[in-house]
Amino acid sequence: MAEHEDTIFALASGGGRTAVAVLRISGEKSGALLDALCGRRPPPRRASLRRVRDASGETLDQALALWLPGPGTYTGEDSAELHLHGGPAVIEAVAEALIAAGARPAEAGEFTRRAFFNGRMDLTAAEAVADLVEAESAEQRRQALRQMEGALGALYEDWSQRLMRVLAQQEALIDFPDEDLPADVARRLATEMATLAAEIAAHLNDNRRGERTREGLRIAIIGPPNVGKSSLINRLLARDVAIVSDLPGTTRDALEARLVLGGMVMTVIDTAGLRETEDRIEAEGVRRARARAAEADIVLAMHDASQPEAVLDAAAMPHAGEVILVANKLDLASGRDIGDAIGVSALTGQGLERLSDALIAAGRRLTARTGPPPLTRPRHRAALEAALAALTRAMAEPSEELRGEELRIALRMIGRVTGRWGVEEILGEIFSRFCIGK
Ligand code: GDP
Repeated sequence: MAEHEDTIFALASGGGRTAVAVLRISGEKSGALLDALCGRRPPPRRASLRRVRDASGETLDQALALWLPGPGTYTGEDSAELHLHGGPAVIEAVAEALIAAGARPAEAGEFTRRAFFNGRMDLTAAEAVADLVEAESAEQRRQALRQMEGALGALYEDWSQRLMRVLAQQEALIDFPDEDLPADVARRLATEMATLAAEIAAHLNDNRRGERTREGLRIAIIGPPNVGKSSLINRLLARDVAIVSDLPGTTRDALEARLVLGGMVMTVIDTAGLRETEDRIEAEGVRRARARAAEADIVLAMHDASQPEAVLDAAAMPHAGEVILVANKLDLASGRDIGDAIGVSALTGQGLERLSDALIAAGRRLTARTGPPPLTRPRHRAALEAALAALTRAMAEPSEELRGEELRIALRMIGRVTGRWGVEEILGEIFSRFCIGK
């Protein structure tokens, strides 16, 4: 594949003015480009100081040059790196010299796409590279790193291999019904299908912990108007993102803000006050608030501690995950009974520590890392649900032929997650390994 591709380059380090900028080059001309720009090619994988020159011989920079011959590289192709001084004029001049010498700027994701096509990583690992670059919290970093190192890919690969063996045995049942197949082939087949189905179902039924970590937990603050929802969000974020006002009903739409708490990304959503209203715009806000609360992982249900008669009925609230009761304005309500709620004052900051601890504890429960690596993307979920459905149909299917067909669908769906298996490869693999009935 590498022979037909252009040689590409891109800035691998961040934009703007930096001390050092790393230009990454990949493709069959990488070595020749280094020769052209740096005069002498450095020894493989040894950082060497070189003058970088353009075609006219003008020196553009002094740089560390790396020559990384394939296939043991990120993309699997011959590659090179230039560690330049990070000024825009240097980067631009070297980029122009590279283009003049036959390279072209890379498209988004092109290095990783090449790595995938050259078999250096499967799709789940490629996705994890993107996740790692995007990771904002420690938990996201850990999860992405684990996935990049192949934890998820290995799990799906194991299922693919086992499904393939099941399919091979199924094919044997179809092709040789009258021959002396061991009597227990059908029974073993049924057992293995059931085991696989149970494992996939357990993986799907993981309370979305991997997706929650990757996307961030959604925290909705709900409660009647004027209890201090906007004030609390501002406290949590320690900056002014929501409009605080003492006119009831001024927060008309949901506002979102992200924070990292206990190593987890949390998106806090401030919602319009929940109350019956005649105002059409505000009514829409209330409708959205209910919808947000219903999707939230954690609902902070808030009331005004100085007005205990306005306590929300937690049981009646729409929510998908955990509910934390919060009694605000504790500074105006000393000595009042606040029941199970966590007492805080968005004004003085009192009780904020306890509230943060409660949020972290709830977040940990929702994203707990135990057992096999969690599913991290809706794309994986959709494909695995389709695989499980096909496997379930296969188990109930009396016809040997149709059962084989369902198993093939299941295999293709799992193969889709890793991108490792097209139909051709699946069949090739089956027939190369299991030559039953030759
Ligand atoms: P929201 O409608 O629930 O978002 O409430 P706001 O955050 O806009 O607050 C309504 C009013 O209550 C504002 O005047 C705030 O300054 C005030 N307020 C919010 N939290 C506290 C608190 O803990 N103590 C006191 N005394 N006033 C507060």
